[in-house]
Amino acid sequence: MRLRSFALALCLLACIGLSACASETPAEHAADLYAAKEMAAAPVQGNLPDYSLPPTQLTQAQHLASLRLNLHFGSEAWGILQLVFLLALGIIARMRDTAVRITRHRWLQGYIFLLLFLFCRTLLNLPLSLYSHHLGLYYGLSIQSWPGWFADAGKALVLEWLVGGLLLLLLFALIRKAPRRWWLVFWLAAVPIVLAGLYLSPILIDPLFDHFEPLALHHPDLATQLEHMGVPANRQFLMKASAKVTTPNAYVTGLANSKRIVVWDTSLTPGQSPSPEVLWMVGHECGHYVLHHVLKGTLLTLAGLLPLLYLCYLFLEWAIIRYGTRWRIPSQRDWGALAIILLAVSLLNTVTEPISNAISRQIEHHADIYGEEAIHGLVPDTQLAVKNACDSDGLRALEDPNPRPWVEFWTYNHPATGRRAAFGKAYNPWAPGMEPKYFKK
Ligand SMILES: [Zn+2]
Repeated sequence: MRLRSFALALCLLACIGLSACASETPAEHAADLYAAKEMAAAPVQGNLPDYSLPPTQLTQAQHLASLRLNLHFGSEAWGILQLVFLLALGIIARMRDTAVRITRHRWLQGYIFLLLFLFCRTLLNLPLSLYSHHLGLYYGLSIQSWPGWFADAGKALVLEWLVGGLLLLLLFALIRKAPRRWWLVFWLAAVPIVLAGLYLSPILIDPLFDHFEPLALHHPDLATQLEHMGVPANRQFLMKASAKVTTPNAYVTGLANSKRIVVWDTSLTPGQSPSPEVLWMVGHECGHYVLHHVLKGTLLTLAGLLPLLYLCYLFLEWAIIRYGTRWRIPSQRDWGALAIILLAVSLLNTVTEPISNAISRQIEHHADIYGEEAIHGLVPDTQLAVKNACDSDGLRALEDPNPRPWVEFWTYNHPATGRRAAFGKAYNPWAPGMEPKYFKK
C-alpha cells in the first residue's frame, strides 16, 4: 500500500512535469541551439557577443557570482549542520522540556516550542543573513537601511511563528491520530491551505513589507499596453521597490481574483512611455499571467510535496529508532520530532534542487518566448529589444554573463541572462517556414 501510494505520487509528478515542458517549436529549437553554442564558445564567466558588461562591472559580477555561490551552498550546509548539532547536543529536547514545563495545554506548548526553535535558528542564521544584506549594499543593489532590514526580518519571524504554529498544531494532531498515515492526511490538508495562502498572500502578506498602488495611476501608457497583452487594468500594480533596492523587476502572484501583475517602480521612468525593453519585461510577466504559470508551479510543488512528506515520515521513523534515545526524542508525537522532519526536508531540498530549478527555468523560458512574441509589432526591432533588455537589466543587477554550466544547472531558477539574451536575439518565428509558439499567424 505504501509503495503503491508513493509510485502514484511520482507518476502524478512526472505527468505534471512533462505537461509543463510543452513541445519545442522549430524556431525555439534553433534559437536554443544558437544560445547554447554562443555560451559554449565564450570564456566561462566572460562576456558573450549578445550580453556583455564593461570591464569594471564584469569583474564585480564575477566576484559577486562566486560570493553568492559560496553563500548558497554555505547556507544549505549550515542549515543541515545546525539541525544535527541542535539535536545531538540535546538543545531541541531542552526546548521541548521548557515548553512542557511552562504549560500542560498542548496548543500553547506547540507555540512555545516553535518560538524557541525559530528564535534559535534565526540567531544561528543571522551571520549569513547579515553578510548577504551587506553584499547587496556594498554592490549598490540594495539601499535598505539596517533598521529597515531588521524590521522586515522581525515581521517575517512573527509571521512564520503565527502561521507556522497553526501548521505545527495540525501536523502533530494528525501524527497522533494517524501515526502511519499522517504524511498522506497532512498532504491532503496542505492542498487547500497552500492554495488559500497563494490567494491571500498578495492581499494580506505582501502589503506588510512593501507599498502597492494601481499601475494605471502612475503609468497609464504601460497599463494600456498590458491590457492589450491580456491583463485587465484592475490586476496591474506598481510596487515601490525603490525604497529598498535599485534593481528592476516584475512578477505575477495570487490566485483567482487576487491574481495580479506587479511591476517594480525601479523598472520604470516616471512620465516616459514604456521603452521596448520594458515592454519585453512586462510581456514576459504577461506570459506568466496568461499561461497560468503561478498556479501550475504551485500544483507541481504540491505534487512534489507528497513523496517528500512520505520520505520525511520514513526518515523520522528511522531517526527515532536509531538516535531517539541519544537525542531524547522518544517518539514522532514529541514536539522535538519537528526538528527531525525539518532535517529531512533540508536534505531532500538540497538533493532535489536541480529538478525544481530545471522546471522553473523551463517555465521562465516559456514566459520569455511569450514576451518576445507579445511585443512583436509593438516595437521597431523585436530581437534587439530583448537583447537590450537583458543588457541593461543584467548590468544593473550585475549578472554573470556566462556562469559555469553546472552552476546554472544546479542553482539558477531562471536561464542565465546571457542565454536569455542570445535566445532573444536569435528567436525568429516570423521567418518563412517558422511559426510563433503562442501568437499563431
Ligand atoms: Zn518570470
